[in-house]
Amino acid sequence: MDKNFQEEKFTGITKFTPPLYEQRYQFVKDLVGKYKPKKVADLGCADCRLLCMLKFCSCIEVLAGIDICASVMKQKMHRLSPLPVDYLQPAERSLTVTLHHGSVAQKDPCMLGFDLVTCIELIEHLEEWELKKFPEVVFGFMAPSRVVISTPNSEFNPLLRGVRLFRNPDHKFEWTRLQFQSWALETARRYGYSVEFTGVGHPPRGMENVGFCTQIGVFVKKYPLTSASAQSEKPAEAVYKTVFKAVYPSLKDEKYLRNAVVREVTFTAQIIKQSLLNHLMSEHKEYNDDPTERKSKFQPAVNCFSEDLGKLVVEKSMESFVNGNVVYIPLATIFSFPRVNRLCGTFEKLRKLVAGQVTLSSDGSAVVFSTDQEDN
Ligand code: SAM
Repeated sequence: MDKNFQEEKFTGITKFTPPLYEQRYQFVKDLVGKYKPKKVADLGCADCRLLCMLKFCSCIEVLAGIDICASVMKQKMHRLSPLPVDYLQPAERSLTVTLHHGSVAQKDPCMLGFDLVTCIELIEHLEEWELKKFPEVVFGFMAPSRVVISTPNSEFNPLLRGVRLFRNPDHKFEWTRLQFQSWALETARRYGYSVEFTGVGHPPRGMENVGFCTQIGVFVKKYPLTSASAQSEKPAEAVYKTVFKAVYPSLKDEKYLRNAVVREVTFTAQIIKQSLLNHLMSEHKEYNDDPTERKSKFQPAVNCFSEDLGKLVVEKSMESFVNGNVVYIPLATIFSFPRVNRLCGTFEKLRKLVAGQVTLSSDGSAVVFSTDQEDN
């Protein structure tokens, strides 16, 4: 049994702990953690709760929600917007979140290119004609590597208090395991997928024969679609309306990378400068002279730096020094610090990103500060 559901207790006849919807979302999250899709579309996303969870999965770069009801999507879509912390510390990955108003029974070019498509408690809301179109749209047109479909298992219904015909008045049908599996197997066969069945919401002890409360089919595409066939499927016209779009700040965007590098370079240089001045002050005490008058070279000691900065080998040519009241901190020294190194990748990139952003020596090889200058 999946460890996420081991702690589930069936408390009475209608309650699940954690709640059933959370178990469904957790199932999707685990799948994302396992297969690391970059582009995920949630069909029938309603109030975007699953999307809000998935935006924290660091593998995802494109997240889209589609629903026929614009007002339900708009209720909480602001939760999909970047937070102040996303601007203060932009992530390495890029992330774009989009919400589209439209029906899963219609094709739109914005549906193309996804790795994973989730349809959580959607199909039972579709009219007969929509359900007929649905496989062609999802498996034929979108054709992602994986599709997850969840739907109520009607065999469980007698264990749910207050359920007469269906669990929800908007449901157009509820299937037994055999009905769902027959539909899923036929759909998979027709569009070149394999499908495995599982579920969430365990039945109480002694009632295992009814199966999970929510039944789930995980479809995996057998053969990758060629780009030519994907192109030929592309409809000319967009039918969906985009109701929300958020582009998260990312270090892949040069503007945010430059800010992050300048911040890190300034921070690192300030620490080196402070260590150098402390060193000079201690020499001054020892020799009783003016520290700023001495042209002092300085090899910063590793223990001068906060531990998380870490430090690579500093060569002799990378020594920082004071000349008059100016402190020179070679860019090469700054580049040797892992955080700067990781952000820039190459020394050339570092030079390019800091050019015009921090004060450099005339040959551009060192960051310069006045010894009087306060830390900034
Ligand atoms: N997937 C969400 C979840 O599990 O929390 C919400 C499921 S809700 C029960 C079903 C959603 O499907 C509703 O938001 C409804 O508006 C949407 N829906 C129904 N028919 C649709 C269609 N033809 N195309 C797109 N969405 C549809």
